[in-house]
Amino acid sequence: MASVSLENISKIYPNGVAALRGLNLDIQDGELLVLVGPSGSGKTTALRLIAGLEQPTAGNIRIGERRVNDVPSRDRDVAMVFQRHTLYPHLTVRRNLSFGLDLRRPILARRLLEKLGLCQPISDGQAARTTAERIAEAAQFLELQDLLDRRPNQLSGGQQQRAALGRALVRRPAVFLLDEPLSHLDVPLRSSLRRQLHLLHRRFPATMIYVTHDPVEAMILADRVAVVDDGVVWQVDRPTAVYEKPGHRRVAAFFGWPSMNLLDGVLSASDNSWGLRVGQTTLPLPAAPPGDGQPRDGLALTMGIRPHDLRLAEGAGEGFVGEVRRLEALGNFTLVTLGHGAVELTAQVDGRERISAERPWRVVFEMERIHWFDRATGRRLAGGRPEG
Ligand code: ADP
Ligand code: MG
Repeated sequence: MASVSLENISKIYPNGVAALRGLNLDIQDGELLVLVGPSGSGKTTALRLIAGLEQPTAGNIRIGERRVNDVPSRDRDVAMVFQRHTLYPHLTVRRNLSFGLDLRRPILARRLLEKLGLCQPISDGQAARTTAERIAEAAQFLELQDLLDRRPNQLSGGQQQRAALGRALVRRPAVFLLDEPLSHLDVPLRSSLRRQLHLLHRRFPATMIYVTHDPVEAMILADRVAVVDDGVVWQVDRPTAVYEKPGHRRVAAFFGWPSMNLLDGVLSASDNSWGLRVGQTTLPLPAAPPGDGQPRDGLALTMGIRPHDLRLAEGAGEGFVGEVRRLEALGNFTLVTLGHGAVELTAQVDGRERISAERPWRVVFEMERIHWFDRATGRRLAGGRPEG
């Protein structure tokens, strides 16, 4: 096991694309960290840099205490599982599993290391036994026992991906890199393999970096999540902490589903009642926004509120009245998008409720459920000041 650290990493590809722009990330020894971000945000690039398949344009990569920028991939003690399986088509599952072991310790290299006193001498018989034991263990854990003599084209997608995981597992790497390994599988298979991954991490403790574009998957799997967007890590914390207190507007927009409502506006005050003016429309606020007592009329802010923190009400009363612009029935809940002028809010209501689109609805919410962000910097505000 080993810690991994990325220090101010930039990666500019030869075509000029800046995939990473000063990315910082520390992964602790033995941790399961999920790197989550939208497609194109630089996740695969980050993994390929750690694996040594790609060189950074600037910055330092460390595995344990060692700076590995110049260490070739095969000497980094990492194993990577790719988005689509990369099994050798002409080899059986068993040979695919042992292949990495054979490659990493070629017999001649081992003999040389033994001569130099740099590794414990082990006999070929012993090496073969170790290989066989590891394959049996991985096969049992991943339920591959009955598939060991098949070739990849005789396996289903899920079986292929399990075999790819097995191949990484038998190598007992210090660091596991998993690049959206489940994204091509159907939903039930994905959730069962996800559960298995959790067990796997407990059973074979290794530092694990798991990449996904799916915030829900990140929440289920992670000890900690790192939210990446546009080649930069915006927040690293326990998944619930990121969900409850997104530190930046970008994190708020991405992390969580259904997505948070975000409104860019200007605070307005009149006769002790507060509102957020968006274009020509004002969204009434149930109380004064948190602040330090300074007059804040005219302050440019972004307001965020999650769909399940909005309630719909009928008839006259406080809140924001809007016409139904969209109704999305998703079974156990329905997303109702209400709008008036430039203000649009999506509320999540119980799927059994019948929402008529014919008449306007009122949306009410509590002040404590609002997330405030600075319009200029995007940073989370608390009490009128940037947080953290
Ligand atoms: P993600 O895995 O988060 O979807 P990637 O790391 O694959 O993101 O890509 C980040 C950005 O770098 C994207 O804009 C992508 O088009 C670009 N990119 C990735 N690989 C290459 C490459 N080999 N050459 C040029 N641009 C690339
Ligand atoms: Mg990718």
